[in-house]
Amino acid sequence: MKIGILGGGQLGQMMAWAAHPLGIQTTVLDPAANPCAAPLCNHIRGEFDDLQALYALSQVSDAITYEFENVPIETARWLAERVPVYPPPWALEVSQDRIVEKTFFQSLHIPTPPFAAVDTRADFDAAIQRIGLPAVMKTRRFGYDGKGQAVIRTPAEAEAAWTLLNGRPLILEGFVPFVRELSSLAVRSQTGELKIYNLVENEHRDGMLHKSVAPAQNIAKELQNQAETYAHRVLDALNYVGVLAIEWFDVGGKLIANEMAPRVHNSGHLTIEGNVTSQFENHMRAVAGLPLGSTDLLGHSVMFNLIGDHPPFADILKMPRAKLHWYGKDPRPRRKIGHVTFLVNTLAEREAIVREWNDIGV
Ligand code: AMP
Repeated sequence: MKIGILGGGQLGQMMAWAAHPLGIQTTVLDPAANPCAAPLCNHIRGEFDDLQALYALSQVSDAITYEFENVPIETARWLAERVPVYPPPWALEVSQDRIVEKTFFQSLHIPTPPFAAVDTRADFDAAIQRIGLPAVMKTRRFGYDGKGQAVIRTPAEAEAAWTLLNGRPLILEGFVPFVRELSSLAVRSQTGELKIYNLVENEHRDGMLHKSVAPAQNIAKELQNQAETYAHRVLDALNYVGVLAIEWFDVGGKLIANEMAPRVHNSGHLTIEGNVTSQFENHMRAVAGLPLGSTDLLGHSVMFNLIGDHPPFADILKMPRAKLHWYGKDPRPRRKIGHVTFLVNTLAEREAIVREWNDIGV
């Protein structure tokens, strides 16, 4: 079995790594000369709209997947005429535009924040009038890691947000007073088999994921069931194949959908150590048409992202349970360059790890 991957960043790298023991050969398409997945798989160098490069990828792939949701939709469709593309291109279309995405959630009776499309100043004023403050203004497309968004609490902040963002299609959302952020990782196979991981709890800093823990604590059975029911609806509605992530706001025991990603997700990195089958392995299994593996937890896990500067490796590796994943990227401000996961047996041990990590001050 041969699988092509659009994008050779860390997600492509971890997919290639998970594919190898399954006997699956991988090839990434990436414009960079030496993307970080390249040491683990074949690499075709090209842009994501370069038909020659896409053709070359289709020639060496039984199925194609991708590591980022901003794959040009024409590219996904062009490839899908030649070779199966999973997750299906329509999942990309839904997730690329925040208005389409939230409308889709609502059509499945999955709660979202109140929202309005904003193209003109008149739309903006009307949206603030209707939704009220505080609110969050975001670009409809191509936003990630908190980029292209502004929180608006006052009329002065509304002016600043308009100056910063206008000129692009926008969305205004009501600010959700969440108690915490959670995510669901779910996977669906080509035969419609479905597996859902336990809810993960996420902490963001400056709009970027800092820490994830699994299982999330104090999750009532009803909340886990709610997450699973919603994920099930999304996967079935999209006739989905592969891993899908949904990010939730927990507002006192109820879930509100923030966004979804039709791909493996940063909050699922801890499944490598923390679950019987990682998100990466299950994604490759689904794309390859294989049965899915168990998503059972192996204990309590916590993952920290390494962002920006070179981390203090020696201090980290002195922690005996540290599992370092170094992506091989040059450090740069706000760039994810690696992550570290710890798997322990008890919640108390996990809390001790978090304290120790905070003492290192990464
Ligand atoms: P996003 O790019 O939509 O995932 O937003 C990045 C982060 O901004 C989220 O993880 C939240 O911490 C915060 N955020 C986004 N939208 C809202 C909202 N409507 N209300 C409150 N916080 C939000």
